[in-house]
Amino acid sequence: MLRINSLGVKFGSATILSDVSFQVSEKNCVSIIGANGAGKTTLLKTISGIVSNPTGTIEFQGENITGKRPDEIVKRGIAHCPEGRRVFPAMSVRENLELGGLVNRAETPRLIKEVCELFPRLGERIDQLAGTMSGGEQQMLAIARALMSSPKIVMFDEPSLGLAPNIVEEVGHIILDLKARGNTILLVEQNAFMAMSISDYTYVLENGEIKRHGPSAELLKDDYIRQAYLGI
Ligand code: ATP
Repeated sequence: MLRINSLGVKFGSATILSDVSFQVSEKNCVSIIGANGAGKTTLLKTISGIVSNPTGTIEFQGENITGKRPDEIVKRGIAHCPEGRRVFPAMSVRENLELGGLVNRAETPRLIKEVCELFPRLGERIDQLAGTMSGGEQQMLAIARALMSSPKIVMFDEPSLGLAPNIVEEVGHIILDLKARGNTILLVEQNAFMAMSISDYTYVLENGEIKRHGPSAELLKDDYIRQAYLGI
């Protein structure tokens, strides 16, 4: 469904991503793990069209989408759930969801109903200001807002960041639930254990390059991964 071929990004003279290639098949959950500064956020922003002028190509459902604008990319079915949640704090839950549905305005009422069934806590707090919600609730709102564009693939940038362990587990269940409903997932995480526990396949990004990859269940047993990413 999504194929990244030899992607490269430079900011000035600094090489941030170099020769990054990977693919995500339909209805799979693929994770990309990496330490601080490995280039994970830059990778997702490049796929979303927020970082422009990469080298290499990004193909989505057989179409070369490299260089397209972010709104064109959302319309094709790629949703980006950004790092740090980035909800609009002074807007209500409903207004945040409406913004996520701008590409699909006629469908907005139906989609709000649907995401509130998926996240009942958002339904209960539909008129509450997003900035007054807990970190976990804001993460759920950020996920629900991404779903408002009826995406074919959802890209998550570190959804576990800054959340208590029980909420990280809940977010993991939500991602598995989305996959079970037929969504395709690209998950970028520093929390390697969480990412490999819920994904089918994992790529390891180090200093802007893919250093290893394999089925997540196998990488979880790999000595290098256990030492470098799981501290075992
Ligand atoms: P983290 O887990 O800490 O968020 P990351 O793997 O997501 O890290 P990125 O945010 O992609 O990493 O950053 C990768 C490198 O690119 C960092 O060294 C960062 O300073 C640099 N970088 C990111 N955005 C820019 C920019 N707009 N201009 C210059 N350098 C940038």
